[in-house]
Amino acid sequence: MIELLQDETGLRSSGQWMYELIEELFPICRSITGNGVRQTLEIIGRNIPLERHEVPTGTPVFDWTIPKEWNVTDAYVANSRGERVIDFRRNNLHLLNYSIPVDTTLSLAELKKHLHTLPEHPDWIPYRTSYYRENWGFCISHRQLESLPEDRYRVVIDTTLEEGALSYGEYFIPGETEQEVLLSCHICHPSLCNDNLSGIALMTRLAQLLRGKRLRYGYRFLFIPGTIGSITWLARNEASTPRIRHGLVVVCVGDEGAFTYKRSRRGNAVIDRAAEQILRHERDTFRLVDFYPYGYDERQYCSPGFDLPVGSLSRSSHGSYPEYHTSADNLDLVKPHCLAESLDIYLQVIDLLENDAVYLNQNPKCEPQLGKRGLYRAIGATAGHDFDEMALLWVLNLTDGEHSLLSIAERADMPFRKIKAAARALVDAGLLKPLPQEESS
Ligand code: ZN
Repeated sequence: MIELLQDETGLRSSGQWMYELIEELFPICRSITGNGVRQTLEIIGRNIPLERHEVPTGTPVFDWTIPKEWNVTDAYVANSRGERVIDFRRNNLHLLNYSIPVDTTLSLAELKKHLHTLPEHPDWIPYRTSYYRENWGFCISHRQLESLPEDRYRVVIDTTLEEGALSYGEYFIPGETEQEVLLSCHICHPSLCNDNLSGIALMTRLAQLLRGKRLRYGYRFLFIPGTIGSITWLARNEASTPRIRHGLVVVCVGDEGAFTYKRSRRGNAVIDRAAEQILRHERDTFRLVDFYPYGYDERQYCSPGFDLPVGSLSRSSHGSYPEYHTSADNLDLVKPHCLAESLDIYLQVIDLLENDAVYLNQNPKCEPQLGKRGLYRAIGATAGHDFDEMALLWVLNLTDGEHSLLSIAERADMPFRKIKAAARALVDAGLLKPLPQEESS
């Protein structure tokens, strides 16, 4: 059996490590294309051997087309005295993402048609995009909007929207079988932390921890721009998607919110059961949400032509926290210990997937005598023997070749790690043998 969990000390240092990666990535202005994405992939690539892909503008991907590439040099609104009252360099959220180049002078009333605010949170700057409709604009706090005096305003948006490419990163850790686990996060948001730098940091750490381990599944890590990135990846890799046996979209894993698991479209895939099993036994409060065709890239992975077993494991989820898509989703909202907890839950889910197997009881006629095999003495004894009598009895009773360890944990309503520990002890005592590993559960 494989052990993938980190201890307290390991988790604490992983939490700090992920937070520092977020700090490093935070200032970069990202979008669905452009140099900010490349710079982000380059930084991720210093930590894991990332393969980088560039898909040219105009390439058809299913019903979509790779858009023009967008890059920003500068953007501001200056008053008649030449003072920058709105400045992209101070906060990259100020610029409507994908704004076309502009150099003009406007009245306040004309300018206001291009300003976006959040009246319900008057101090926060909203995050807005216009990827697929050519437009320009600025996002500011509502308080600033109300304080702008009548004036002639110079608007300068020094951006380029040209033939280029869409960039994404991919890293694959091979396993012992051809079957794969897909882990996917989006990399297209500018200075926003929980959505989406937390996902990038967690996936990078996870890749570091899985690398070099003997694994049953191959692990495919995708760092892609939201929507167009997953569509692009699916269009280019359609033939290999049947190898994906489990998958998770990794988002919003750095805040203090309770965990949320959004099920795959199938609703009862092994990944759905695995995530539920771990949350049920590891957390006091959590939310389980059935699939709906909105949210993040699970929308593409779970489109009917693919219907992949891909769920999404997050803390506060898509659009459900007030700071979502605002300047308040910053370095204060995400916390090292929250990132560490999220990593722990992800590792537990992966540990379950890796160890879920079907075993066969070698002594199925009446209960074997556990005492003479030393299995009673270990019960509740030393640390490291994390199994108890009930777990042993459940495993012995249900290892009839029909139940995987996950099924046994569900039926016994016990934590997977206890069932796993009991199975290991019974294997060591010669009472269980694994069946050849086919897709089980
Ligand atoms: Zn978002």
